[in-house]
Amino acid sequence: MIRIGLGYDAHRLVENRPLILGGVTIPHTKGLLGHSDADVLTHTIMDALLGALNLGSIGDHFPDTDPAYKNADSMLLLKEVYALITTKGYKVGNIDSVIMAQQPKLKPHIAAISKSLASVLNVDPDIVSVKATTTEKMGPEGRGEGIYAQAVVLLTK
Ligand code: MG
Repeated sequence: MIRIGLGYDAHRLVENRPLILGGVTIPHTKGLLGHSDADVLTHTIMDALLGALNLGSIGDHFPDTDPAYKNADSMLLLKEVYALITTKGYKVGNIDSVIMAQQPKLKPHIAAISKSLASVLNVDPDIVSVKATTTEKMGPEGRGEGIYAQAVVLLTK
């Protein structure tokens, strides 16, 4: 049995917030705004995992109106989501993801991000692909207003 899931998320870039992607804090003058730590990549992967088993979205599981998730560590939420997936007998076949950001340059951090996500999912970093792209200064992400991320996951049983 295989199932595929798709995730998409966006968060606004603002001053006085840390920039956290896949659980890794990236040095930058701005960070992502959100109720939780606003880790846009981890949110995207959680949505893909949930989507693969038709379990709703992260908004259903961790409402942003719930004070319990204020500044929440998204890696802990990812751990919870993955526990749900494994309870249903599935494991990750592979993940492919892309972060869309004009700034900062993410290439130097890609390996650390992949490793960080893989460690929470207890899988080899080889199956957690993380890529980054600019949008050639087009659109909100190109103007540095925010960062977007997309992911697909394959689950196997
Ligand atoms: Mg989000």
